[in-house]
Amino acid sequence: MKQQYRSYQETVDFLKECVRLYPNIITIQNIGTTWEGREIVLATVSLNVEHADLKPALLYTGTAHAREWIGNELGVEFINYLLKNHQSDPKITAALTKNTLYLVPCLNPDGFEYARTHFSFWRKNRRDNKNGTFGVDLNRNFSVGYTKVSDTNSNVYSGPKPFSEPETRAIKEFVDTHDNITIALDYHSQGNVFFPAHNFNHEKEIDGTDLNILCANLNYEIRKVTGREYGIHRGKPPTKLISGSGREYYYSKGIISVVVEVGTRNIPDYMQNMKESVDENIPALLFALKETKNYSFRAPKRVKNFHLKSCDTDTISLTWEHPQDNINIFFKIYRSEKEKQACNEANLVATTKKREFTDIQLKSGKVYYYYIRAVDMVNNIESPYAPKVRAKTNLENDEFSRTIFPSSQNIGYVAQKTPEQNREHFGANSLFVGINESKGISYAVMNFSLENLPQDAIIQEASISLYPMNRVNAKIEKYGEWSLSFIDQKSIGEITDFDQVHEAEIIETLGDSIKSEKLTQGIWSSWHFNGLERKILKSQIKKGSVIFRLQGPKKLPIGRDSQMMMFDIGYGKFGGGIHYRPSLDIKYTIPPKEIKIKPLTISSISKDETIKDFLSCGFDKNGDKIYGFMEFDLSKLPSPSQTVVTHAYIEISNNKKPKTEQDMRYNIEFIDIDNHTFEDIKKRERIEFIGYEVSKADLNRHDTHHFLFDSFSKIELEEAHKNDKPVSFIVKATSITSAKNHLVDWHKKDSEDEVKLIIQYIKRRKNGVQKVTNLKTTKENGIVKISWDNPKDEALVGCFVVRNRFHPPQNPYDGVKLYAGVDNYTLDNYGSPKVDKYYAVFTYDDVPNYSPPVIVEYKSK
Ligand SMILES: [Zn+2]
Repeated sequence: MKQQYRSYQETVDFLKECVRLYPNIITIQNIGTTWEGREIVLATVSLNVEHADLKPALLYTGTAHAREWIGNELGVEFINYLLKNHQSDPKITAALTKNTLYLVPCLNPDGFEYARTHFSFWRKNRRDNKNGTFGVDLNRNFSVGYTKVSDTNSNVYSGPKPFSEPETRAIKEFVDTHDNITIALDYHSQGNVFFPAHNFNHEKEIDGTDLNILCANLNYEIRKVTGREYGIHRGKPPTKLISGSGREYYYSKGIISVVVEVGTRNIPDYMQNMKESVDENIPALLFALKETKNYSFRAPKRVKNFHLKSCDTDTISLTWEHPQDNINIFFKIYRSEKEKQACNEANLVATTKKREFTDIQLKSGKVYYYYIRAVDMVNNIESPYAPKVRAKTNLENDEFSRTIFPSSQNIGYVAQKTPEQNREHFGANSLFVGINESKGISYAVMNFSLENLPQDAIIQEASISLYPMNRVNAKIEKYGEWSLSFIDQKSIGEITDFDQVHEAEIIETLGDSIKSEKLTQGIWSSWHFNGLERKILKSQIKKGSVIFRLQGPKKLPIGRDSQMMMFDIGYGKFGGGIHYRPSLDIKYTIPPKEIKIKPLTISSISKDETIKDFLSCGFDKNGDKIYGFMEFDLSKLPSPSQTVVTHAYIEISNNKKPKTEQDMRYNIEFIDIDNHTFEDIKKRERIEFIGYEVSKADLNRHDTHHFLFDSFSKIELEEAHKNDKPVSFIVKATSITSAKNHLVDWHKKDSEDEVKLIIQYIKRRKNGVQKVTNLKTTKENGIVKISWDNPKDEALVGCFVVRNRFHPPQNPYDGVKLYAGVDNYTLDNYGSPKVDKYYAVFTYDDVPNYSPPVIVEYKSK
């Protein structure tokens, strides 16, 4: 059973046979003729194919680069799949009823045949450049960003002028005359990565979320088949990488346009690897086909001004507007915990016709991503996505967090074969981790200062995040894993020295390692610490810093020359700025302090009398209640603005065992009364029961009893402290039947066993500092400068500056982070001064608590 790559002629013959077998579903046409006289064939696939042009369409292009055979093969197999299964699979029937597929399996037939029969690494077409050289790189010959290359021998020779080539002209004319195309996927090899279109600057685009989520959803389909995760390389585009590419031309026509780099070699082992790449991409293509209608003119409009309204420790409220006043429109809201994840049934958190939504049961101090699209319930067509919202829930009142970045001299990579240069890699170069021929084994080293962490911190969560930028010369995958290790600082003198790093003693390697097929460019990688690892991290606090070594594979399989991932460090000319800097994120608390407070007053209050300095409760001779009253002064606690009560209870002991046959129970109430008379107590307002009641049997069993405060009572305790008020409680007995002459003695004033209020608390600021003032933007040497005045407050730790192109950021995490620190200005080094946007500045203290935002709208004109 031979199955190998189809030739150009076999492809054409196959398509002709399809037309013969399925004339209602597929047609083919020649959209152009190459220099060597081959037809450029485009297949149209749709149910009732004669109406295909009336439906929204997916444009598939393959093998624009001659040596990238996957494009032709996948295209043919996708058509084969659709035709063979359209009668048995309702999903395919539905997709082909509402959408159309235009598919050019091979955009470069001359080059493809040349690569197949003669020179397998050939990339360009076969134009005769009339100087002994041949070929134009078709993916540099489109008009958008076209750059003239003078060397006709170059692999990226862009041709004499845009669209000088019959192949690019053919696809241009087809696209120009088919405005029903809404999504374009251009298949190349290799890298297992999506490259969505972009406008070559570091600003987000209105359809950036659409591009990322489309790729994430395709990834979801791919993962179902092979478990592989493709990279999604958008968000931090290189400013000038590709000029004159087809992707950008389609994008300029309003088409959601993506290059898909498939596989790890141009011409892989067919049965093992090519088959895998084809199989995993077919369901992804079917998804893309179904998605085209959601970008057609029939689709509802995109939601506007989707933004965070408020957030708390466990809730996030979102609000938005929609330009259409249509009763049939509802909204779908998706939530992810990581960026660039699929939006589907699994993370759909709401469907609503309202213009607001509150998400509940979230975790404190955690970042969440939200996505929204409008849906027309009549035709079930969905809108494009609004730009995503990112928000971090507030910390619980006993939690602190730190995001620690290594200083520039404390992050870099050391390679085996470049001992002289290793020192210069620090703070300047991306991290190369893995192995290749020129560098040998290469490690990343990072030293994070822990000086801002208290010695007694109890670390609740910790993780290290790095941004993979590029897999260098990717030709292998499913090979090796990347793992992080704690290095014993005593064993290493100089972190820029390869030998020392190589031989350093490892305290522990994190259990969480990332396998190569999951380490994907453009998607943040995080290593999460388990309990043991958090303990090791804590043990490093007294050393003032912690050193990690990141390592990849250390050996290469035969015939392969590189397995190396490049991570951004956010410094230097290759870095993407602070937003992309590796970080150690820690959530922690501290052990509480405890005070035991003796009562200010105690008394026993009955209808007839009040006995001071004696605490008892029960029933008098007439069956009226006797209340034990106690009052505590909280002034020994430190300043209310910095005191968080973590735990509180009343400790109370009974003197004699009660003698009664009745089922008597005793409880304590937190009360709010001004006068301590019997009548006032009877009419009292109860704030809360403290703990559960104890029974008569409990009194016989134990001498001492603890009544625990719940969260609400702790808040009331803090509130009273803030208002400088003593707190009052009563202890009383209850009986389900009438009771008389029953008294429990809870001790006298100043006796050893006197009742106590015990409070555990931590010192932590409850509220942030004042906002900044005089926030403004100016332009300095063509760069936007954001400046402000800091509040005069000793508690100010810094200001956090975030940029958002679409809505005013209401949360420090809702946008691109530009700066965090004590300065009163920052420069938007990576942003474009030609783009309108919002900047928000949040002040923060040492918790950190963030102030509300101060927002400035930047207008380019
Ligand atoms: Zn290519």
